[in-house]
Amino acid sequence: MRLLSLLLLGGALWAQDPLRVRVVTGGHDHAPSFYTMFESMPGLNVAVEPHPRAFEGNLMKRVDVLVLYDMITTSTPEQRDRLRTFAESGKGIVILHHAICGYVDWPWWYENVAGGRYLPTSTYKHDVTIPVKIVEDHPVTSGVKDFSIFDETYKGMWISDKVKVLATTAEQTSDGPLVWISPFAKSRVVFIQLGHGSEAHRDPNYRQLVRQAIAWAGGR
Ligand SMILES: [Zn+2]
Repeated sequence: MRLLSLLLLGGALWAQDPLRVRVVTGGHDHAPSFYTMFESMPGLNVAVEPHPRAFEGNLMKRVDVLVLYDMITTSTPEQRDRLRTFAESGKGIVILHHAICGYVDWPWWYENVAGGRYLPTSTYKHDVTIPVKIVEDHPVTSGVKDFSIFDETYKGMWISDKVKVLATTAEQTSDGPLVWISPFAKSRVVFIQLGHGSEAHRDPNYRQLVRQAIAWAGGR
């Protein structure tokens, strides 16, 4: 009995081992409220690392999940190699909002990993009340009901027909898909188009989607 208790306690402690999350920024301005999101996420050990340091150091040993909120189009082959090694190792990646506008000259990235690309002809619209419809039952959307959010839409993007769409909108200034799972088989990759400003950052449904995306990408 005592051994069983110890085993259960050990299991509980193991389960509480925080996911090590590196939030990558740079190349696009954003509201400081973005960072407050992570204060509401227990069980995560979050550090912010802007470019050009984002992919320096021992990424593989120190990070379980990368959260990309950067918009970098020019990076060195070494930095891209590190990101590619990370992705191919089975680690988790969550791509938020304007991060889909990065690496537009890197087909391996947008075709396989991101599953989408913001094109020169794509458009955006700020300050839209967006009705969000959850279309797939998945750990990322678990417990999230359809909701509305005041945020920014993108339209005219290239979106891979291999992504698994989890949430959509009927808003005319959007392409429709708002949350998807990438076709990349070697690691878990989630894209969430939402997340421009403080209204989105403080939205409880948005926070829940981001938190669950990180957890799922990290294998929890
Ligand atoms: Zn934006």
